[in-house]
Amino acid sequence: MTRVLQFFLSALPKPLGYQVQLDPLSNLFSDTELCVKCGLCLPHCPTYGKTLDENESPRGRLSLIQAWAAGQLEASPKLLGHVDNCLLCRSCESACPANVPYGRLVDNFRAATADTLVKPLSARVKTAAVGRMLQSPKLQRWSGPVRGVLTKTGLMQATGFADLAAGLPAPFEHVRWQGFHPAPGEERAKVALFLGCTAELADAETVTAAIRLLTRLGVGVTVPPGQGCCGGMALHNGDDEVFAKMQRNNQGVFNASAVDAILTLASGCGAVLKEYEAQTFTGKIKDISCFLVGHAWPENVSLEPLQAKILVHSPCSLKNVLKSDRHPQALLRRIPNLQVELLTNAPNCCGAAGTYFLDHPDMAHALREDILQNIAASLPDFVATSNVGCAMHLRAGLKQRGMGHVQVLHPLVLLERQLRTA
Ligand code: SF4
Ligand code: SF4
Repeated sequence: MTRVLQFFLSALPKPLGYQVQLDPLSNLFSDTELCVKCGLCLPHCPTYGKTLDENESPRGRLSLIQAWAAGQLEASPKLLGHVDNCLLCRSCESACPANVPYGRLVDNFRAATADTLVKPLSARVKTAAVGRMLQSPKLQRWSGPVRGVLTKTGLMQATGFADLAAGLPAPFEHVRWQGFHPAPGEERAKVALFLGCTAELADAETVTAAIRLLTRLGVGVTVPPGQGCCGGMALHNGDDEVFAKMQRNNQGVFNASAVDAILTLASGCGAVLKEYEAQTFTGKIKDISCFLVGHAWPENVSLEPLQAKILVHSPCSLKNVLKSDRHPQALLRRIPNLQVELLTNAPNCCGAAGTYFLDHPDMAHALREDILQNIAASLPDFVATSNVGCAMHLRAGLKQRGMGHVQVLHPLVLLERQLRTA
């Protein structure tokens, strides 16, 4: 159906003024020509939904990028601002009948204009501080005490990190992850776990649950030392050199592992690794829920029933890039008596979007508010999400609304808890 629509759309005459003379940048941006300006993406775009401004829509942004690449428009602060306001949620790509590679175009544009875009100082400081913290295990170890002091003195609010701090889960004690964790009994598969830069600080319970669950299901788990950030933050902020460096590091670390799959726990990291995976990784990068749905569970493994309600949130990266959003719900339905419902994301994106919630707090909060209203109306015990950034953003919002009793967790954490009690 999509192919038929695509054929007819490609045959439509292009709007007046569309044919542009591209300069040498055209190699990078020639795909903007694929856009036939049909507007089918507009209802799926969260920023357009909130502003009803064409410049804040996928079609509008593509036109701006195209005009800039053709030398018809300067990279003015206004133009750069419209592209910078994009969440890179990729909902437009899922809706586009012409298969415009929107995400790649925006990444290329941001890299090409990185030196021109001047973000407000506070946004730059916040993004740089978070980036530095996430790439340094040593700094992460200090985050707890520093967070305590800043909260007590009121400085957390003053420095604009309150939302970030409120989204962190309670500290979780764990044993060492790095190295090999054998499956007791017959080994049915062998995987490598990708931790990303947030595991220690914000996702320790998920990593621990993943290792316990996988090994119990007959999967040997290796957690290669030396791995690092997926580079997504650098890539989406236009720093392609840093991204390439991080990519090379992870390729070196994971190429050495002879495994059936490389599993990601945060769909945001999974989306970046999957899209830019080297030849040697081809087909190996998988979201952990996708892997567990396709894996044959041993017959002697059972889950304890749970009388509770869970809403399943679909991160944009899981839905629009990894195309794996049906897997977490399929896994959770294995828990007897658990009422599993989908969290309808009215505007598609929760607004977390990497570091977007730090430098675009107004839009991020407005988008989150729609989702919080849906949660409040549904009265769940849990909200499951497969991306740590979304989990932190939603957790902070729930706390601020006085709904901190609703636990926000990765689906695997609940599965592992029920496995343990069974
Ligand atoms: S990006 Fe795709 S859906 Fe949006 S206007 Fe262009 S062709 Fe249509
Ligand atoms: S990636 Fe998301 S925010 Fe950006 S233009 Fe597409 S739909 Fe809109």
